[in-house]
Amino acid sequence: MAVLTDLVTALAGGNVEVVDLTAPLSASTPVLQLPPPFANTTSFRLEEISRYDDRGPAWYWNDIHTGEHVGTHVDAPNHWVSGRDGDSVDEIPLRTLVAPAVVLDASAKVAEDPDFLLSVDDVREWEREHGPLPDGGWLLYRTGWDARSGDQESFLNGQHSPGVSPECARWLAEEAPIVGFGVETVGTDAGRAAELEPMFPCHNRLLGAGKCGLTQLRNLAQLPPTGVVLVVSPLPIVGGSGSPARVYAFVERA
Ligand code: MN
Repeated sequence: MAVLTDLVTALAGGNVEVVDLTAPLSASTPVLQLPPPFANTTSFRLEEISRYDDRGPAWYWNDIHTGEHVGTHVDAPNHWVSGRDGDSVDEIPLRTLVAPAVVLDASAKVAEDPDFLLSVDDVREWEREHGPLPDGGWLLYRTGWDARSGDQESFLNGQHSPGVSPECARWLAEEAPIVGFGVETVGTDAGRAAELEPMFPCHNRLLGAGKCGLTQLRNLAQLPPTGVVLVVSPLPIVGGSGSPARVYAFVERA
């Protein structure tokens, strides 16, 4: 296929750049903290099996301990009760995981108000400038929050972090042609989204519509508003509700 030959040439020549949107995964990676009485996820942790020692003289390896929803990760439709009959993470179509993406930058508004909620008007305004949201693609919501991703306290910010209004979540789920919604924050919903109606509207509406979430992205500032090809690589955990994922963006450079 000529298009793949062209892609290889463009990658080698720098005309197509691969941008890593993934946060490093370690024991200090921030994780969601639900209030009591709700159960919480485990953090990521390595457990050494051997390291060139008497447990294994020529090799180094670890067991990993992690929640499905730790670090940069995918929310599968079955993560939420509204999508309980939807795809598990291993069932997400590859056409969803390799797909066009656009970037909506609300970082200036979030800098003024950490509780900022994206509205339908914000998305409509973006569309007037850049065209329609991609059919079968992803909307990536830039908030500047990735600058905080190295520090749990600053990242969670006492549950004051940006999200999406209930009406915008409904609109993205039911009216927009996207298959997924990606964010820089610990989850797709705002820090105070338990107070919204429905609670956690992004999870409720998008996962309920069979769409996917993608969280804790970084480097969205390196992407243009349109023309991105996104590659999302969750582990195919059978029946799982999500997975840590490596996420790349293919970007054309002039
Ligand atoms: Mn999640």
